[in-house]
Amino acid sequence: MPTDNTLIQAPAQTDQAYIQVALSVPVHRMFDYSIAASDLPKYHIGCRVRVPFGAKTKIGIIVGATRSIDYDAKKVKAVDALIDDAPIFDEHRLALAQWLSRFYIYPLGDVFAAMNPKLIRTGTIATQDSIAFLSASRGQEGQNAGKPESTQAEYSLALDSLQRSKKQTALYEQLCNGDLLLDEAKKAFSSAVIKGLIEKELAYTFEHIPEAGKWKNAISFGTKKRANPEQSIAIASINQAQSYSSFLLEGVTGSGKTEVYLQVIEEVVQRGKQVLILVPEIGLTPQTLKRFEQRFGDIVSVWHSSLTDNERLKVFKDAKYHQTGIIIGTRSAVFLPLAEPGMIIVDEEHDESFKQQDGLRYHARDVAAYRAWQHNIPLVLGTATPSLESLHNALSNKYRHLTLQQRAGNASMPTQHLVDLTSQPLESGIAPSMLSRIEHQLEAGNQVLIYVNRRGYAPALICQQCGHVESCDDCNNPYTLHLSANNLQCHRCGQFHPYVPKCKECHSQNVTTQGLGTEQIQSLLSSRFPDYSCVRIDSDSTRGKRKLNELLDEINQNKHQILVGTQILSKGHHFPNVTLALILNVDSFLFSADYRAPEKLAQLVTQLSGRAGRAEKPGEVWLQSYQVGHPLLQDLVNNGYSHFARSLLQERIAAGLPPIEWQIALRVEHEQQNLIFEFMQYANQLLEQFQQIKFIGPFPAGVEKKQGRYRFITIAQSTRSKYANEAMWQVHEALSKHALQAKLRWAIDVMPSDFS
Ligand code: ADP
Ligand code: ZN
Ligand code: ZN
Repeated sequence: MPTDNTLIQAPAQTDQAYIQVALSVPVHRMFDYSIAASDLPKYHIGCRVRVPFGAKTKIGIIVGATRSIDYDAKKVKAVDALIDDAPIFDEHRLALAQWLSRFYIYPLGDVFAAMNPKLIRTGTIATQDSIAFLSASRGQEGQNAGKPESTQAEYSLALDSLQRSKKQTALYEQLCNGDLLLDEAKKAFSSAVIKGLIEKELAYTFEHIPEAGKWKNAISFGTKKRANPEQSIAIASINQAQSYSSFLLEGVTGSGKTEVYLQVIEEVVQRGKQVLILVPEIGLTPQTLKRFEQRFGDIVSVWHSSLTDNERLKVFKDAKYHQTGIIIGTRSAVFLPLAEPGMIIVDEEHDESFKQQDGLRYHARDVAAYRAWQHNIPLVLGTATPSLESLHNALSNKYRHLTLQQRAGNASMPTQHLVDLTSQPLESGIAPSMLSRIEHQLEAGNQVLIYVNRRGYAPALICQQCGHVESCDDCNNPYTLHLSANNLQCHRCGQFHPYVPKCKECHSQNVTTQGLGTEQIQSLLSSRFPDYSCVRIDSDSTRGKRKLNELLDEINQNKHQILVGTQILSKGHHFPNVTLALILNVDSFLFSADYRAPEKLAQLVTQLSGRAGRAEKPGEVWLQSYQVGHPLLQDLVNNGYSHFARSLLQERIAAGLPPIEWQIALRVEHEQQNLIFEFMQYANQLLEQFQQIKFIGPFPAGVEKKQGRYRFITIAQSTRSKYANEAMWQVHEALSKHALQAKLRWAIDVMPSDFS
């Protein structure tokens, strides 16, 4: 398949030509469609076409042409319509799609679909929008012409003719001083006034396509902070790189990583190049955005899950046609077309939200790295808690390692401590010694933060009489009691039903909750500290993007003093008044079957710590545990993330686990376990033939059953990604032909980030 967008050559001597089209359909191959040979010059690779498919039509991407076909040409259907004049997948995006398909073992047609926003997928025209102007002179092509090329006498004559309409006169005079955006004119004048002037041939409308890269003139640089020595080194190193180079910016929380981004971005946009910044799902708060807008004015475009389809299309086109200089977006922004890419930044690169967990299971950080290499531009990965993947790349000199070890400004790092739960009876789920510390901080006018790993009131409901645990049958999972909604919810499938405090088995009313969720901790702390306001931050209390932002604002206005929440609290927020952070359930991470659990725990603890002591006031962080002697906890608390992560990496290397080895998972789901096993057995037989591959499984996923379907995983592992990729491609091909393939849900997950 050609990778450039060159014209497809016409087959000689026939009046029909054939194009190959990638479609997002379950059949993993390309499809031939016929066109008139004379139309060939209009058909470019990477353009969209509308084609008949079964009884329907579908939108597909042209990926090539065949000069002739070796089967009955009458069987080939004709293309319905060509949608694009110019490719929607330019050379780079096309190569990116092909790489994604190979790397993630995912059909090209589906990759194309996954890379595009909905309106592009469904065939909306994506040519550049023109802007309508109103002008006093005829036939302008977008120059601000101002006065018509007429004599003073004609001008006076025109004004005379408008005597009776003051409004028309006012508009005409304005137009004589310069063209107006039609939208602006409409805001100031009624449509009758505008129409009147047009009918008198004293005003004309014209359309203008904005020049590419014009945003550069609209940058208004805000004042930058004076970089400290560590920041200066980082900024200078990144600025020096004008071609592909990856940087890991490992800077403790509050060390001024964002300031480094802002200063290197300034360099890039001044050269008229675009910068793409990827942020975690929850990280795109108005505070973050404000920092970028204050520094660069309104050349910043934003991309996230709550945009409307039309807003997405606009960002897509602005990026493609070079109408924007800076794009800040969540995961899927990594697929946006860029006219003049200059740099890619991934903030909080360790964040799990960069990994897509269904469909095309890509990791935005890895895709960002490919794009940076492809465009030959620098890549900056920033975090206080590097993923072991990035740390490994930095320590093995694949990435350049930049560190910021001091907090910027006057803030100092918080101290970390363990609370031994074996020696004290819990009160409200919290050690008594901690309650007095909390009280002490509250009395001093500070805020405290309490992390709880479960939302809801309690994660289980148990009958005291017969021991029955009320569970969701579809998922074999205990229901979580939610008192605020007064219902029982299954956190796997989302099913819920009203809460009745009565055992389903023996009808006893003697039921009790087990475990603690955010709701319960909130209510316990509210009654323990009635003079203070306790706010809950979890996915229930923050439904809808605005809600989280409102709560964050209230926290910063000190309307709440006690913050109870899940990991949402750990995501990059700035809480200058928080001086104490308490983490309730660290033990659950220590004994998890997932080898990534300690890494996740350390990231969580360190990021939560990072919320404390961010201003003048020093912060303290406490971890409640029954296992205070555990070497991992000791290492983390005494030596910090940086040391901890290096020890963990050594362990992974010794154990032959990622990132040193490559893993590709096969995930299979079905109502009947025997069908799953039959399918996976076949996969294992295929895998056995590859000498470079070892495989583990099938084993039940962390979430063994969901919505009535059992879930199993097999992991293929090898020392090089190439081996695992080649083996899994072959397995994928074979499984695609298996009798059960359409019946089962199955997927390939390259470098799975969890096994749930
Ligand atoms: P990070 O992104 O590493 O968590 P931020 O960039 O948010 O850190 O910086 C933390 C705080 O320090 C912010 O309030 C920021 O304005 C401030 N800051 C950053 N760099 C400097 C500097 N060079 N001088 C003074 N204050 C700074
Ligand atoms: Zn019972
Ligand atoms: Zn369920």
